[in-house]
Amino acid sequence: MDIVEKLTEIFKEFPGIGERQAKRFVYFLMARKPDYAENLSNLILILKKEVNQCKECFRFFIDKNKKKVCEICADPNVNSSVLMVVEKDSDLESVKKSGLYHGKYFILGGLVPIVEKNTKSRIHINELIEKIKKDKNLKEIILAFSLNPQGDHTDFYIKSQLKNICEPLDIKISSLGRGLSTGTELEYSDNDTLKNALKNRQ
Ligand SMILES: [Zn+2]
Repeated sequence: MDIVEKLTEIFKEFPGIGERQAKRFVYFLMARKPDYAENLSNLILILKKEVNQCKECFRFFIDKNKKKVCEICADPNVNSSVLMVVEKDSDLESVKKSGLYHGKYFILGGLVPIVEKNTKSRIHINELIEKIKKDKNLKEIILAFSLNPQGDHTDFYIKSQLKNICEPLDIKISSLGRGLSTGTELEYSDNDTLKNALKNRQ
């Protein structure tokens, strides 16, 4: 594999990037001056040095002071009686940006494929269960997954795993309402859609 192929393979792993776009990135880099590439590689290294995964919600965040807990989890003004479970960081960012939700978050780290044997090692389900058990303020868990078969399956799976833990603690489990139309990715839903989905959660 030559250098062009190697870099193309790397860019192809980026979300939403196919072979053709990946190649365009490589040719773009080839045409830039050397300090462009140097700056880019430095910034990537700094990003990796400063990033941390929050030990409470599993979100990736810039943690210059090595606090290990993100600013949402550390914020005393956040409503700690409600916990929204999302698939990934970009979903959390969309909901946060909407300004419609003021509770805590939990990043599952993926969806549960319909045919899957090692579910527990793929997603943070055990960590979620631990969090629910030790969190004394919790009143409601909102499952907020994309509306596609895998999102539905994940919703079903998480509910089945949490039912016996939440019932004795009197914690309600709800899912985002069907205000999101089928196929909608949470990450790309607009404010009105999200507002309805939150209002109509059940
Ligand atoms: Zn956090």
